[in-house]
Amino acid sequence: MLNNTDKISRRSFLSGAFASTALAALSLAGCAPRSFESEAERNVIDGGSYDIVVVGAGGAGMAAAVSSVDAGAKVLLLEKMPVAGGNTCFAEGGMNVCCTKYQAQSGIEDGVDLMTADTYKGGHNKGNLELIRHMCANSNDALEWLGSMGIVLSKLGTSGGASVKRIHRPETGEAVGRYIVKGMSEQCRQRGISAVCNTKVEELLMEDGRIAGVVATDPNNMTVRYRAKAVIVATGGFGANNEMLAQYRPELLDAVTTNQPGSQGDGILFSQAIGADTVDIGEIQVHPTVEQTTATLLSENIRGDGAILINHDGVRFTNELLTRDVVSANEWKQPDRTVWAVFDSSVAENNTSIEEKFVARDLCKVEKDLESLGKAMGVPVEDFVKSVTTYNDNIASGTEDPLGRTKSLNPLVKAPFYAIHVAPGVHHCMGGLRVNAEAEVLDANGDAIPGLFAAGEVTGGIHGGNRLGGNAVCDINVNGLQAQKTAVAYLKTL
Ligand code: ADP
Repeated sequence: MLNNTDKISRRSFLSGAFASTALAALSLAGCAPRSFESEAERNVIDGGSYDIVVVGAGGAGMAAAVSSVDAGAKVLLLEKMPVAGGNTCFAEGGMNVCCTKYQAQSGIEDGVDLMTADTYKGGHNKGNLELIRHMCANSNDALEWLGSMGIVLSKLGTSGGASVKRIHRPETGEAVGRYIVKGMSEQCRQRGISAVCNTKVEELLMEDGRIAGVVATDPNNMTVRYRAKAVIVATGGFGANNEMLAQYRPELLDAVTTNQPGSQGDGILFSQAIGADTVDIGEIQVHPTVEQTTATLLSENIRGDGAILINHDGVRFTNELLTRDVVSANEWKQPDRTVWAVFDSSVAENNTSIEEKFVARDLCKVEKDLESLGKAMGVPVEDFVKSVTTYNDNIASGTEDPLGRTKSLNPLVKAPFYAIHVAPGVHHCMGGLRVNAEAEVLDANGDAIPGLFAAGEVTGGIHGGNRLGGNAVCDINVNGLQAQKTAVAYLKTL
C-alpha cells in the first residue's frame, strides 16, 4: 500500500448536483467537538478535502470505500497499520447468507425469517431485531455484489447455530478473510484507491453540528487534518486493548487474543468523544478453538467438517457444534482448561489453512494412526482411541450421539490423523457504536449524528450476546455497503 494521498484522487462527488447548502447547526448534548477554527491555531498539515473519509481498511472499510467510489464520491481510506486487512484478514469460516443461488442449487430452503431467528436465538435473544433483519434481508445482495467483482463464495458449509447450510466460502477451501481482502484490495487498486497506511485517525471534526473531517497522525508523527463531508467509521473492535477489556470484561484478561494489534477500539473512543452512544459494549466473544502458543485461530469449519474435541483425559465432553460461548464454557470446565481438536485427512484436505497455518508452523500433531496421535497428544491412549472408535461406530450404526451432535457426523477414518491444542481466546467485540439500520451513528438520545456512519465490528447490536460464525463477514459487507448508501444519500442533502 502506498502512503501517498495524491494517489487517492477520484471523480468528485460534488460536481454540480450536490452543491452544499448552509444547514442549521444541530447541537449534540455533552460533546465538545474540535472545530476547524481551533484546529487552525495548531500547526497541522492540510490533507485535502473529500466527500467521504473511510476510517479503517478492513473488510467493512474496503466495502464502503469501493462502493463509495463506484457511487461517484471522492473517497479517502485511512488505515493506521502498515497494511490493510484488519481482523478480516484472519476470518476463517465464511459468510452467512440466506436465499442464495448456491443454496437453491443444493436444494436448501432458507429464508430471511429463518436466518433472522437463528441470529437472534444464537445471540441469546439480545440482538436488535431491526438490525438483524436488515443484515439478513440484504445478505444475498452483498454476496452477489462480491460475486460481480470476482469474489465468489460458492461453497456451502455448516456452521454452529445455523438451521440450514448457510455459510458460504471460496470454492478453493481458502480462508474467507484472506480471500476477500485479496479480492477487495484488487478492487481498490482498479479504482485507484490506496489505503493511506500508518495513518491513525485520532479525532473527528465537527462544524455547525455536522461531521467536517478527521484529524490523524501520519507516519512521521505529524498531525494531518482531512476535511470530509461524511466519515464512515470501520475501525473494528477492541479485542487487543487490555485497558478496555479490563474495563468491560476483566475475567478475559488472561485469555489469548486472536485480534490484530490495531484492534484498539479507536473508533468507539473518538466517536464517543463527539457524543456517540454505545450498545452491548461488554459483550465480547471468545472463540473456542484458538491455538495457545501463537493465538492462531482454528476455524469453525474444522468442526463443521467433522473435527471433534478431546480433553486431557482422552474423551469427548461436548457437542462440538454448539454455539461458541457454550463450547468455550464447556472447554473451561475441562482439566487444564485446554483441549485438543482432532480430525482426519478428509477435513485437512478440505481446508488449506491446516497445512499453511498449523502443519507448516509445527503447531499440529500429525500421526499415521490414532494410537500414535494419542501418544503425541499426551492423553491416555486407550481412552482416546476408544473415544474416537465409539464416535465412528455410532455414526456407522446410526446410533444417536450421546453428546447430542446431530450435524457433520463424519467418521475419523482417513489417515493421517491430526490434533491441535486449543482453548478459548478473545475473538470478537459484539458491542460497539449504537447505529440504526441505515448505518447512522446515534447519540444518547437516539438521534443520528449528521455525517457520521459506521459499519462492521466497531458497531454493536446485531450479534447480541453471542455471534454466530459467518455473521461477521456478512455484517461487514452488508453494512459496509449500507454505510456507503446512506452516506451518499446524505451528501445529496448538503
Ligand atoms: P471489520 O471486520 O469491522 O472490517 P477489521 O478489524 O477487519 O474490522 O478492520 C478494521 C481496520 O481499522 C483495521 O485494519 C485497523 O487497523 C483499522 N483501524 C483501527 N483504528 C484505526 C484508526 N484510529 N485509524 C485508522 N485505522 C484504524
